[in-house]
Amino acid sequence: MLQSKYKWVGIILLLLLIITGCTKEENTEQQKTNQEQNATQEQKSNTEYEQKTSEEKNIDALTVDQILTMPDSIVALVNKTRYLPSDYTPENLTVVAPDIIPYTVPGTLERNMVRSELEEPLLQMISDSQAAGLDIWVASAYRSYERQKEIFDRNVEQVGYDETIKVVALPGTSEHQTGLCIDFTTESVGFTLEENFEETAEGKWLKDNAHRYGFIMRYPKGKEEITGYSYEPWHFRYVGADIATEIYNQDSTLEEYKNIL
Ligand SMILES: [Zn+2]
Repeated sequence: MLQSKYKWVGIILLLLLIITGCTKEENTEQQKTNQEQNATQEQKSNTEYEQKTSEEKNIDALTVDQILTMPDSIVALVNKTRYLPSDYTPENLTVVAPDIIPYTVPGTLERNMVRSELEEPLLQMISDSQAAGLDIWVASAYRSYERQKEIFDRNVEQVGYDETIKVVALPGTSEHQTGLCIDFTTESVGFTLEENFEETAEGKWLKDNAHRYGFIMRYPKGKEEITGYSYEPWHFRYVGADIATEIYNQDSTLEEYKNIL
């Protein structure tokens, strides 16, 4: 009787050992598998990350509200931190009055296009400036996301990412993608986009009159901290005459007007 009791205890102990042993082994196995999976996962996402271009990494770091939800708005604020969606293309892009307005690179080209809302005000502005004896040329208007990416990538290849980011807009951050802005130039500055445009009769006239047609000088002198851009006396943005006049009268910027600083 006593012997058989011990026998049972022995069997139970043995069973316990086996069960514990198995569980331990299974646990170890499971742990190993988890570790392997984690490692594989990590490796995979590392590879995926490495494969991304530099600007994709930057865009990943953006929060959703920095990608504009109303890119079509006439007062859409696009700057170095507020991106247009990469698939955003404005509708009704058109080349305005090529028989009247001079284009530095003539033709039905992307760079000469603006949104159709600008058709009348742009033609009126240029016609009036010509009547005043001035010679204003359109150097560059609409710029697609693809074109911005091309320019950015080419610069990265040539001088590296760190140098590129200082001087070239990340794809999606160029206001030119809105189809609402234009870089103007004139013959006396060799059709370049340089600060000395401010000294020309054309630059001065645009500075003082563009708001009447709905355009603001988007990157004024002394507002670099607010706009995030150096002074660009040649870059004008359409916002409509009322808002442009308000911004002009208050010596303000689109950032200040929208109170998004
Ligand atoms: Zn510009």
